[in-house]
Amino acid sequence: MRVRLPQLEPGTVWLVGAGPGDPGLLTLHALNAIQQADVVLHDALIGPDILDLARSETTIEFAGKRGGLQSHTQDEITRRIITLAREGHRVVRLKGGDPFVFGRGHEEVLALIAADIPFRVVPGITAGLAALTAAGIPATARDSNTAVTFATGHFARGTAGKTDWKSLAQAGQPIILYMAVRTIGPIADALLEGGLDSGTAVAIISEATTPRQKVLETQLARAQADAEAAGIEAPAIVAIGAIANLREQIADYMVALTTDTDEDRLITLETP
Ligand code: SAH
Repeated sequence: MRVRLPQLEPGTVWLVGAGPGDPGLLTLHALNAIQQADVVLHDALIGPDILDLARSETTIEFAGKRGGLQSHTQDEITRRIITLAREGHRVVRLKGGDPFVFGRGHEEVLALIAADIPFRVVPGITAGLAALTAAGIPATARDSNTAVTFATGHFARGTAGKTDWKSLAQAGQPIILYMAVRTIGPIADALLEGGLDSGTAVAIISEATTPRQKVLETQLARAQADAEAAGIEAPAIVAIGAIANLREQIADYMVALTTDTDEDRLITLETP
């Protein structure tokens, strides 16, 4: 295997998307970044099997807003990234999914520009797409939809509260929700008010692409109750619309990428 990839220079920052969780869904750019980093600053979505890909000398720092004891404000995180870069480190800011999809990547990049620090951004596979595909749900299907909407279910940040759910309902295209485990109830109500059928198909995919992936199939009017009964927890993606029904044609025939846990059946890809 021979691929030519860029060097991470001292004093620079790469803002890197790590994909949805499965290390196999990292890009080669992401792997290249992790292996060159002096410091990896990661958010709560990054699992140990991805952090293990760093060199043993690399410092791993948690810089997220969830995930147990340590919790940082966005300001603290941004300041930390800038300090490390100014100290001359090769900094990788590692984020779940894609850094520019509901990931505060925009703020971090603006802060780097203001601080005059050179940076690159490595796209990642966003959870909204990966979760659907991993669950056997085509994000687009010829007979079903011609558009897809990604929306946040996070009301506290003030964003989901501004979303015009009625218009989304009227568009008749599937809606893919991030951060909506706790807010699926009110969002479903708004979509029903906007004209969506109470029986509209819903799939909720938690911890997508990890061995702990769960898929709940439900319907719009009872999505919240079913999610609670099933004990669905974040991180999860909620897919609303006819595409969620397509799963029944596919899922039973699809072998999950995370199925092989038997050491003898796994292939080892070595990196330098
Ligand atoms: N930048 C990320 C999104 C960060 S917001 C991306 O592009 O994917 C955090 C939300 O992402 C979670 O609340 C959840 O909705 C979603 N998410 C991230 N990883 C996930 C996973 N493995 N399975 C399901 N949802 C996930």
